[in-house]
Amino acid sequence: MRVNVLKNSGFCGGVTRALYLLDKAIRENSDKTIYLLHEIVHNDIVNDKYNKLGVKVIEEKDLDGLSSSSIVLSSAHGISNLTREKLNRFNHIDATCPFVRNNQKIIQASKASEIIFIGKKNHRETIAMTEDNKNIWVIENENDLKNYKSHNEGEVYNQTTFNVNKLNKIHEILEVNCPKYEIFNTMCESTRSLQNSLKSVDPRYNVCVIVGDKKSSNANSLFEMSPYIRTEFIENEKDVDKLKLCKVDSVLVVGSASTPKDVLEKVKNSIKERFPEN
Ligand code: SF4
Repeated sequence: MRVNVLKNSGFCGGVTRALYLLDKAIRENSDKTIYLLHEIVHNDIVNDKYNKLGVKVIEEKDLDGLSSSSIVLSSAHGISNLTREKLNRFNHIDATCPFVRNNQKIIQASKASEIIFIGKKNHRETIAMTEDNKNIWVIENENDLKNYKSHNEGEVYNQTTFNVNKLNKIHEILEVNCPKYEIFNTMCESTRSLQNSLKSVDPRYNVCVIVGDKKSSNANSLFEMSPYIRTEFIENEKDVDKLKLCKVDSVLVVGSASTPKDVLEKVKNSIKERFPEN
């Protein structure tokens, strides 16, 4: 059995930076509780690790119960200005990914009267991008644009981890129905290069195995856009037993931006051990 991990798989720069800031905060404040406003990444393996180290995940409603000396770290997905103001009362460590922050500043500076943001409606990044400006219209798919036309000027942005195939289709519709809209592709470099590597089938592999948390937007996008006829979606090496890989001789393992690289290696080794004959 030939099993390889796709290049660029695993933690992206934004997640690595957020985890570095969290580790540093834990190291430098061993006598204090570190509060995490929302999960650091959408990956339960990572979240369980920090939970065991005493880090507490909180929601915005919990902020009122914290003393002003509390250390609160906000995740790579970003926060709205509204939330940032609330966090200024505490010792706030902002782990927003620089790509997300940059997009947010561009959107906030926009003077366009019509703004569309393409992204998952309840995703933290979408909330961070749109909460300060209620006039931004969030769309998730082509159906949301049904019968929508505009001859006004407008601007279009998107979630950094959006599925590039879906994004291109939505852009095509907008180009026709809203000819004066200026369309910006605000996917991040990390997602772009990972999705590009998965754009076409590599003939050396029969099956593609996406590894990521089911809550991860990035992992779901990879699963949706995989061009392999057989694509499986698992969370970690414990799920390898569920894979039906008899008569398969080659597997491509792909990890999302929130999947630890050691989990990808464990999945790779576990597939090799579980199917040694292939
Ligand atoms: S996926 Fe992209 S935007 Fe999101 S944290 Fe990683 S680098 Fe940043």
